[in-house]
Amino acid sequence: MYCTKCGATIANLAAICPKCGMPVRSRRIPSTAKSLSSVPNHLVSAILATIFCCTPFGIPAIVFSARTIALVRAGDFEGAMRASKNAYTWILVSVVVVVLAVLFFLVIRLMQAL
Ligand SMILES: [Zn+2]
Repeated sequence: MYCTKCGATIANLAAICPKCGMPVRSRRIPSTAKSLSSVPNHLVSAILATIFCCTPFGIPAIVFSARTIALVRAGDFEGAMRASKNAYTWILVSVVVVVLAVLFFLVIRLMQAL
């Protein structure tokens, strides 16, 4: 790889450029790009949660996953991770609410049957 400042060839493991002393950043750029693409946007789960589970809780999940996609495109890793976590939380909330509602309904049915 090459120094971003002076263009000198640098060993792959070097932390600074041996010629000008510039800290080597080129190794961080691909890793940031990689971590950006690894931010889960949860869009499919959010849409499924909205359709099959709880619409009021699924909608914020879709909003946050759309924001995750937008922030990944903007290159904002921190913001994308936050939005991704928020989307995931709302998906969990909608799933848990539906599971509890179904359990509640089953318990009521069982009690009526006794
Ligand atoms: Zn240099």
